[in-house]
Amino acid sequence: MELVSLADLLDVQALDLQIDRLLEERQNLPELAEYKEAHEEAVALEEQRETEASKLKDLELSLDKSEGELELLEVKLDEHETRLFAGGMSARETEHMRLEVQSLKGQRETMEEKVLQMLEGIDPAREAVKDLETRISSLNEAKAELESSIKAQWKKIDAELARKEERKQEAMSPVGAELLELYEKLRRIKEGVAVASFDHGVCGGCHMTLSPAERDEAFSQEMPRCVHCRRLLVA
Ligand SMILES: [Zn+2]
Repeated sequence: MELVSLADLLDVQALDLQIDRLLEERQNLPELAEYKEAHEEAVALEEQRETEASKLKDLELSLDKSEGELELLEVKLDEHETRLFAGGMSARETEHMRLEVQSLKGQRETMEEKVLQMLEGIDPAREAVKDLETRISSLNEAKAELESSIKAQWKKIDAELARKEERKQEAMSPVGAELLELYEKLRRIKEGVAVASFDHGVCGGCHMTLSPAERDEAFSQEMPRCVHCRRLLVA
């Protein structure tokens, strides 16, 4: 009975090894690495975009403020000039007003230059934000494509896994619980290979030869094990 079970265990192991390979494949799709890379780049660009957008917003606010100040200067200048044209002021008042107009014109010129400089700075800032947005959206498109490719491949692998699991359950049914437990334990510590075929005196697990005495000793046991690697042996 145990011998039959051991041969069945070889089938279970073959399926387990196939399942291991599928799981390995599932976790190591090249698209997963590409996705991770694209995602990290998108996160970094998003941070950069936020910084640039906040710089742009500050620039736009300062520009609004300066344009407002320029408008007030224009109004004030207009009022002063109107009073000068209207006349009716003392010579002192007129001179004072004339100097005031001169000063306001100077201020207006300074403010106009400031506004011009700001306008020149705002365009590149807008471009920078737009450029980052373009790069982010193309990365997001690439991510979406990778995602659907990963999903399609996972779906295929998962269907294959389900088939293997089903066959494994069938292969496991004739194997005793005690033997299965030993098998699982050995699989964990023996790189997935718990059962080895025994051919011409050689263990298929560690490829070492068992002497006739060692062989007789091993196969006199209910669960024959290799003396070298302790794997279960199927003759
Ligand atoms: Zn061995």
